[in-house]
Amino acid sequence: MPILQIALDTPLDQLFDYRAPDADKTDIGRRVRVPFGRRELVGVAVGLAETSSIATEQLRTVIEIDRESPPLPGDILRLARFAAGYYQHPYGATLLALLPPALKRPAFRPPPAAAYTLTETGRKHVAELPARATAQRRLAERLAGGPVATAQLTDLRPSMRDWLKRGWIEAAKPPGTRSEAESLPELTHAQKTALDQMAEAGTGFATWLLHGVTGSGKTEIYLRTIERTLAAGRQALVLAPEIHLTPQLVERFSRRFPDRKLVSLHSGLADGERLAGWLDCLAGQVDIVLGTRLAVFTPMPRLGLIIVDEEHDPSYKQMEGLRYHARDVAVWRARQTDIPILLGSATPALESWANAGKDRYRLLSLPERAHAAANLPATRLIDTRTDKPVQGLSEALRTALGDNLSRHEQSLVFVNRRGYAPVLYCKACGHVSACSRCAAHMVIHRFGGGYQLRCHHCGLAARPPEACPQCGSLDLHPAGQGTQKVEDTLATLFPEARILRVDRDTASRKGAFDAMREAIGGREVDILVGTQIVAKGHDFPNLTLVGVINADQALMSTDFRASERLFAQLMQVGGRAGRADRPGQVLIQTDYPHHPLYSALVAHDYPAFASLTLRERRQADFPPWSYQALLRADARSMSEALAFLEQAHRLGLESSEQVTLYDPVPALMHRVANRERAQLLVQSPSRTRLQRFLTPWIAALRALKTGGLRWSIDVDPLDG
Ligand code: ADP
Ligand code: ZN
Ligand code: ZN
Repeated sequence: MPILQIALDTPLDQLFDYRAPDADKTDIGRRVRVPFGRRELVGVAVGLAETSSIATEQLRTVIEIDRESPPLPGDILRLARFAAGYYQHPYGATLLALLPPALKRPAFRPPPAAAYTLTETGRKHVAELPARATAQRRLAERLAGGPVATAQLTDLRPSMRDWLKRGWIEAAKPPGTRSEAESLPELTHAQKTALDQMAEAGTGFATWLLHGVTGSGKTEIYLRTIERTLAAGRQALVLAPEIHLTPQLVERFSRRFPDRKLVSLHSGLADGERLAGWLDCLAGQVDIVLGTRLAVFTPMPRLGLIIVDEEHDPSYKQMEGLRYHARDVAVWRARQTDIPILLGSATPALESWANAGKDRYRLLSLPERAHAAANLPATRLIDTRTDKPVQGLSEALRTALGDNLSRHEQSLVFVNRRGYAPVLYCKACGHVSACSRCAAHMVIHRFGGGYQLRCHHCGLAARPPEACPQCGSLDLHPAGQGTQKVEDTLATLFPEARILRVDRDTASRKGAFDAMREAIGGREVDILVGTQIVAKGHDFPNLTLVGVINADQALMSTDFRASERLFAQLMQVGGRAGRADRPGQVLIQTDYPHHPLYSALVAHDYPAFASLTLRERRQADFPPWSYQALLRADARSMSEALAFLEQAHRLGLESSEQVTLYDPVPALMHRVANRERAQLLVQSPSRTRLQRFLTPWIAALRALKTGGLRWSIDVDPLDG
């Protein structure tokens, strides 16, 4: 009797054996429906055996094997296996996490992935539909808007099948061939050199780090390498941070490859759309996949190239569940598939830069902007010890904003805090507004006609108190600057200016971001106020001035990665200025005008910043000179959380692997939503040694009974 070994999404790190009378080898990688306890679960068959360690009569039987959709290919199973092992996450939970949500539901039979359009006769019948046939009308409307995959219309599938039978709809024809070849820019010398080097190296595994300032033509390099890959009959996988915010990138790719099938995959898609795209990929019908971090696991049978744009971006790291880093998984996948991978950034992650220094990655440089006319923006530091800011704005910045306004050019004021002000402060006793559930301040937000206090960690909202809860004084003041307050200040200073605020609060509504981009591109805005969300890869040709306030906070941070993030953010936000034919300028307000980070920024000298910071990290033994894993625990009381970590610490000391186990400590953010949080850091100079330590240690921790305590392990943590 064949037995299928099945991966299920459970916290248990094991496979489950089920009897499967009609199963054979070709079922490996297929979805299956199985009884589990009193429930029914969807799993993936990952192995076939004749025997099991469990007595045959005790084994339960598979309910159904999905043989309608193709099985997950072996390389994706291996990729999941690697990610599960490396990030210390159960294999079953990892594998199921890669599937589009629609495939995890017990309702089987995924809809066919092909897209359909209305035929001529279909059009006629639709016109004659009775008014009450609303579902059919809805279907007709969507079909009239362009080809529609059945998967996008799960609710309407029965009528769609019916329509197909009647010949009212037909499978969509592949998009027509390129009508007019887009004229390609002549490559710069640096671009040519980079492309030649890659071509010479061939089609096997190599990791390329493409370092180039914003506007230096990195995307052009991506397009050319993709072109070569497609010409060789292979597929390209392109990862980008938050593409739902940067439709410009998707547009640029589809314009360059109009007769190729391009699918974009990200979490902003409806389940049906994501499923349709994913199934097309699985079937090998897609040439280019453009996606966010989760797309790194997309099945692509003819994969020939991986590109990771903005490879330093923290959004590549998943912060919960399977805590993977998409760039690192992508490099592993490229090696496994024996294909090249191209990592691009203006400010590479220091891990990547160090790898290039060790010749593990091969460095390609684009030192200048591609447009001869577009110079890098002039960056100037404003010493706020002498030019004291009023409501956050120094005189130098106010003047520059006024000048820009009279020239009818756009400006951007970068404030890395949303809300009105970071805290409400009592002048009489020094009390600051704090969240009752977290170890955090309450942030003041403008709300309705008045104000509201909000916790950015647990979402708690409250009315601001009339009097200080500690001393009763009425002398309460908002302290510091948030985007809303800066917006108000600018409106008072420049009543004639059209001001637009862009932060997570204004951009979270669907379509809001597109509307903003249009307003900005259409010159309906004079001054933009925003957090780093505005800086994400946008091209605003009329923007010539960027002002940065409150950047110094990151220099004071206890997080050793804060300065790296600050440098990347400021380079990126500064890169928005002067993209087209007019020069740009960047003004940065600081109390520390001689700080080496700012000197490197003014000189546009990433390598200087990197070598300085890498030197500091080496002295402190921080990554990339060491490898870390963070064991986190949270419980109702701090003593409970610490006691668990103490136990973990003792277990770890018994191991023969040489790693450094630090003492358990309360986390910096030691209370969130009334849960006390603590952590234990494990560090090793060798990745292999760290891995050899973690595997048995985590297995031992999984065997412990922990009651109401929760814990997790984060390998290569980015915060903490
Ligand atoms: P990056 O991705 O590094 O920001 P892009 O590839 O987007 O840079 O290029 C920036 C701008 O320069 C774009 O408008 C692009 O069309 C243009 N560009 C790129 N390469 C060239 C080139 N060789 N000659 C002229 N313009 C170019
Ligand atoms: Zn007080
Ligand atoms: Zn809170």
